[in-house]
Amino acid sequence: MLLAFRNGKILTVHGIELERTLLVRNGRIEAVVGAREVVGADSVIDLGGALIAPGFIDCQVNGGGGELFNDDPSVETIATIARAHRQFGTTGFLPTLISDDLDVVARAIDAVRDAIAGGVPGVLGIHVEGPFLNEERRGVHDASKLRELDADAVKLLSRPHGGVTMVTLAPERTTPAFIRELSDAGVIVSAGHTNATYDQLQPAFAAGLRGFTHLFNAMSPLGSREPGAVGAALANESSWCGLIVDGHHVHPEVMKLALRAKRHERFMLVSDAMPSVGAAMKSFVLNGRPITVADNKLVDEEGRLAGADLDMATAVCNAVRMLGLTVTDAIRMASANPADFLALRDVGRIAPGQRANLVLLDDALAVRETWIDGMRDSPPLASAARV
Ligand SMILES: [Zn+2]
Repeated sequence: MLLAFRNGKILTVHGIELERTLLVRNGRIEAVVGAREVVGADSVIDLGGALIAPGFIDCQVNGGGGELFNDDPSVETIATIARAHRQFGTTGFLPTLISDDLDVVARAIDAVRDAIAGGVPGVLGIHVEGPFLNEERRGVHDASKLRELDADAVKLLSRPHGGVTMVTLAPERTTPAFIRELSDAGVIVSAGHTNATYDQLQPAFAAGLRGFTHLFNAMSPLGSREPGAVGAALANESSWCGLIVDGHHVHPEVMKLALRAKRHERFMLVSDAMPSVGAAMKSFVLNGRPITVADNKLVDEEGRLAGADLDMATAVCNAVRMLGLTVTDAIRMASANPADFLALRDVGRIAPGQRANLVLLDDALAVRETWIDGMRDSPPLASAARV
């Protein structure tokens, strides 16, 4: 089955290309060829002048469509969250479990395994955010769930399930040896909810620490005599940093400073989305406590941010509007960069051999359609990016 995507702009690894046709065969990208080349496709898709780009990859999705992954870590919940985010251009994501008991972590990993085996579109693996965190930087994570990483937990997190496992932990609450064990097992280790000093993070990098979860939020800040986790993240050229670009979590000028500190390839947009994304809800319950949704912002009773009311299409728009990034750079931060962070080689780019996970965006960067493995899905009309 050969699909030909014509009459659009195509964001390839070379930038935005015009007068080209994208060919997809059996769910994989075959080539990008000249618009006048005769290809004999089984189906021709007219893109109407819009921009076709790699589908968004979101490493941090706690919920969507009214569901919170922690509440019911099941295949059904994952499918609901996937559908909710797909209308905003997300064609790959990690259902994200916040700090919980290890038996819930085990259930979540099994659910992701079953979702991948069952072909739920978009599931790339799991992000286990905690419970191996620093209480002083826990944010809205439940203090009673926090615990030390031990050999049993390492074994659980290293369990294969057909996708990628990302773990957010506080490096100062564990040992480089455990970080090394996780990393050697293929787990993507990210520092977050951490009070680590610059010096504490250096052996963690050497042991395989790969990135930072929601840079700036819930971590030791950049200080004059102590660079903290933020300083260590920006000084280390090879680590990746997640950014929540919703205008609430981090001041845009602070993010612009970070973007000047190291290569753009090392930043990725995340939604940190909660159940409110893709659902009309004014509140929900997290760890037994009410969270209020107002002005695209989620807060608990004490006014602390409790994840984000953000989708990836809006994050991309915000990255252009608030951070002054080019459309190309913003989309790469939502596709190629997270794919590289997760060490996934066949998603995140429009290039031969890649899975045909695509998003079609209009001039306002609103999502018109998505494809996963070449299968089309059109979002409901109201799901334009909420800028
Ligand atoms: Zn967090």
